[in-house]
Amino acid sequence: MDEIRAQKIINDIHNGFWQVMDWVFPPTCPGCGIEGELICEECESKIVRLVGRQCKYCGLSVTGSDICGRCRDENHSYEAYRGYGYYTGVLRQAILRLKYQNDIGIARILASYLETLVVSNDWNFDIVVPVPLSAKKLEERGYNQASRLAKPLAALLGKVYKPDALVRLREVSSQVGLNKAARLENVKDAFRGNPKIAKGKSILLVDDVFTTGATLESAASELMMVGARKVYALTLAKSYKIKMNIEQSPNIVV
Ligand SMILES: [Zn+2]
Ligand SMILES: [Zn+2]
Repeated sequence: MDEIRAQKIINDIHNGFWQVMDWVFPPTCPGCGIEGELICEECESKIVRLVGRQCKYCGLSVTGSDICGRCRDENHSYEAYRGYGYYTGVLRQAILRLKYQNDIGIARILASYLETLVVSNDWNFDIVVPVPLSAKKLEERGYNQASRLAKPLAALLGKVYKPDALVRLREVSSQVGLNKAARLENVKDAFRGNPKIAKGKSILLVDDVFTTGATLESAASELMMVGARKVYALTLAKSYKIKMNIEQSPNIVV
């Protein structure tokens, strides 16, 4: 049996298990608390999506060029970035549940949002890789929230899930306030890639939240260093603290 088929069967069993669990212990919507819904329709409709013309590297609204002013001066190892929605409201609550409350059930609906996003982009890739946590963080938390999104996403897309393509050696700090040389230093050697897995592959790299993009850049550059052909970066949410006033953005539907 091939790897993708085996993955799909495991995912179906996983979903079946969760359907029974939902019946025994009905989930509550992280937005409004209504019982019986992973994320209710009304809260889902309030998710602030990233739509319209966006910078290909950070998702910021752009009008003329497809690269924003900030990204024009940076190096990018990934081909393109897309995020599903802004890190606010129900999406933020859902990620906090996924991250800190060990809510595996919620990952199913979040992965389906990511599936919609990937399908709407014309990205060609072979494997799905989550951004790993460092060993210390993994021990503290017990699981990696990016894996919990990436694994069901790979099954939904019919792609091979490869969590071992990257190992995280250390955390990457925020890039804010650093000059270019310091920024390059900050993202260097934070991950170790596995050439046996990554070499010659086009990769979908998945994380939960895009904050400055430093972590994605660091992980993508390592994958390219060990021979990946291309890396696409995907997150469920994008933090907008750094750069924008939400009311001023022309491409946001609230
Ligand atoms: Zn709700
Ligand atoms: Zn940008």
